[in-house]
Amino acid sequence: MAGGWTRDGGVQDQINASVEDAVKLARSRLPDGESSNNCEECGTVISDARRKAIPGVRLCVGCQSEREERQTTPTGFNRRGSKDSQLR
Ligand SMILES: [Zn+2]
Repeated sequence: MAGGWTRDGGVQDQINASVEDAVKLARSRLPDGESSNNCEECGTVISDARRKAIPGVRLCVGCQSEREERQTTPTGFNRRGSKDSQLR
């Protein structure tokens, strides 16, 4: 009986965490006024063309795509983990 409550709580925590992540992600993609002259990740100069094309841009092309790759595949680990446990 008590187990049901514990499980619900855990799921809710996970949902809260992913909502928070989604909000952070959405905020990180919102134009934030000024574009940076340099990539905030690696310091590379961001070209005028890129700054005009993406208002509020803060990352160079390389860092931006790297960051998006990381953010779009957060479930890879969990999927692999559950597959392993099913095999055992
Ligand atoms: Zn960079």
